[in-house]
Amino acid sequence: MDNCIFCKIIAGEIPSKKVYEDDKIFVFHDINPIAPVHILFLPKIHMESLNDINSSNMELEYVSHIIGKIPEIAKTLGLSDGYRTIINTGKDGGQSVNHLHVHVAGGKKLPWFLE
Ligand code: 5GP
Ligand code: ZN
Repeated sequence: MDNCIFCKIIAGEIPSKKVYEDDKIFVFHDINPIAPVHILFLPKIHMESLNDINSSNMELEYVSHIIGKIPEIAKTLGLSDGYRTIINTGKDGGQSVNHLHVHVAGGKKLPWFLE
């Protein structure tokens, strides 16, 4: 989608530190990490937020695929003691980029509230 920075990252128009990609998802390091490891999982089709998902649409397949890949990729990054998954949705949820993404953060014991 025009003017979406995450669509531009997926297209390679904005550089990123890529961790993984397949036909459905793109995974890369967050530019402003909140933990020693902080990566973002994006669906390769533009969807604004979790509010674009319903129990039977195509968008859900992309999000399911993300969830299914998280354990494998977390393992490759050494997150054997666990990690936090976060999906911020909308203004009150703290979402700053309107292309759905799942944060995975770890590499240390995380406080319940991250700064
Ligand atoms: P949100 O606040 O929407 O849940 O998360 C957006 C995340 O995207 C933030 O953690 C922010 O650091 C990250 N981010 C924003 N712009 C860029 C960018 O151009 N490159 C990378 N790698 N991360 C970005
Ligand atoms: Zn997008």
